[in-house]
Amino acid sequence: MSGAPRQGRAVAASPGVACGVAQKIHRGEIPVPKRHVEPREVEREIERLETAIAASIADVDAERLHLLDLESQEPLHILDAQRLMLLDPDLSKKVRAMIEQERINAEWALHQQIEGISAVFEKLEDDYLRARKADIEQVGLRIMRHLAGQNGRPSLREGDEPVILVSEYFTPLEIMRFWREGAAGCITAQGGPNTHSIIIARGLGLPALMGAEDALDLIEDGDPVILDGEQGVWIANPDEDTRAQYRRFSAAIHVVQDEMHIFAARPSVSADGHALRLMANLEVAEEVPLAREVGAEGVGLYRTEFLLTQTDRLPDEEEQFEHYARVVRGMEGMPVVFRLLDIGGEKPMLFEHVLGHDDWGANPALGLRGIRILLRRPEVLRTQLRALLRASREGQVRILIPMVTRTSEVAEVRRLLGECARELDIPPVPVGTMVEVPAAVMIAEELAGISDFFSVGTNDLIQYTLAVDRADEEVAELYEPAHPAVERMLRLIVAAARKQGIPVAMCGELAADTDWTEKLMNMGFDCLSMSVHHILPVRKHLSHLRWRPETPPA
Ligand code: PEP
Ligand code: MG
Repeated sequence: MSGAPRQGRAVAASPGVACGVAQKIHRGEIPVPKRHVEPREVEREIERLETAIAASIADVDAERLHLLDLESQEPLHILDAQRLMLLDPDLSKKVRAMIEQERINAEWALHQQIEGISAVFEKLEDDYLRARKADIEQVGLRIMRHLAGQNGRPSLREGDEPVILVSEYFTPLEIMRFWREGAAGCITAQGGPNTHSIIIARGLGLPALMGAEDALDLIEDGDPVILDGEQGVWIANPDEDTRAQYRRFSAAIHVVQDEMHIFAARPSVSADGHALRLMANLEVAEEVPLAREVGAEGVGLYRTEFLLTQTDRLPDEEEQFEHYARVVRGMEGMPVVFRLLDIGGEKPMLFEHVLGHDDWGANPALGLRGIRILLRRPEVLRTQLRALLRASREGQVRILIPMVTRTSEVAEVRRLLGECARELDIPPVPVGTMVEVPAAVMIAEELAGISDFFSVGTNDLIQYTLAVDRADEEVAELYEPAHPAVERMLRLIVAAARKQGIPVAMCGELAADTDWTEKLMNMGFDCLSMSVHHILPVRKHLSHLRWRPETPPA
């Protein structure tokens, strides 16, 4: 049993209570372990080195494939230079010699060798050659990542006890992987409650705390930990009384959840019978049965970019079709709104693969994101549109365009969709605009004129309207949905949709907030789409409300 009880407060970012042991994930530089090896271990170290070099060459080859059709040859030249360095027999020969002669582990030998070479490059007069220092360092990093195991990616520790992960931050990709591996919860030092990692955690029902600043200092690896995602508290090394108290608390939560379950089969209506459709926000196909279980009336937002967390490359048309068709079939005739790949901004997945460079710009939230990227790479967009059209043979498919700021973006998607539909001889499917940028609100009437529906993304709309980074805990207090500017925008959006006769949904996190259900219903929203775990509480809450429609603004 570890040390004295310690506890701290944090933002209760994803509800639920978890008890388990802590696994800390360290960030920053890849550690270079230094160790002398026994003569019998030398062969194994050399084998590790060679496997890591081969894996690094395979990485470079895979990255190269995605860059072949780029106009700029610069990224290709960099990769080619790195490939040559990796293939250079001299590099592996020298590191091998150090392992054999100095009897040190592969990481330490590699580190010394790379340091030595980059020191030589640094002294060179020629600017071009001096710049190759960065390449050799990159090469060292690539090999070191593989030596660190799993391409440097942490994975969940095996054992009988549930694991609670503690780290500076988690990427959306890691949250998905850890959930699949069976993690019980996660605690992070950084991050606001609307980062994508947390949205994913909520969707998957993985309890999470964010902004737990001192957790990294106070929780030791292997400590027993309680994560209270209801009240925003973590406790390390809890005493027996606290454990017993939490066992009771956890049981009570289950009772409430069971009671709530009767609402799974009830219609989504107010006490006086006004229907407000409740749909699910999904990130992975595994969530489809959960959505069915709570009686979701369709999928209001399928974040297709999370498909990319399951592979290290862009899935081809066939793979995408299989995935989308599986979701559509799983929803058995109910509508599924697939959002086109929303890469960029806070979602780095395959940014580099799709665009061929990793230059995010000084401010990724205002840079290449969502539809802007897709229109730069129309072949990526066409592949997705074709896959979605084919999936529409299996049920009701709708397409949603992210980050729209101008009508031409919607018009271009429609044009390409029409082309793909003709090629495939499949009728086009409805196309909706995601309203999540103030510019889209101001031209909402024009957008409504060329869209089949609207879906309001309040996570970004609040961020861009209030100039508050949704992922920055320093300004989390200013991230205020009730700001009059936001409310006014919501009313403008509904009015524009009404005027053009199209339905309007909300799919940002605000849709799940029961303090807002009444207001959103009365403003005139037709549908609220939210993480699966919020559907029953919102439906229950709705059943007590009365419909008092607001008059839309003139
Ligand atoms: C939003 O911005 O509200 C939204 C639903 O999209 P995302 O959170 O994926 O940016
Ligand atoms: Mg968004």
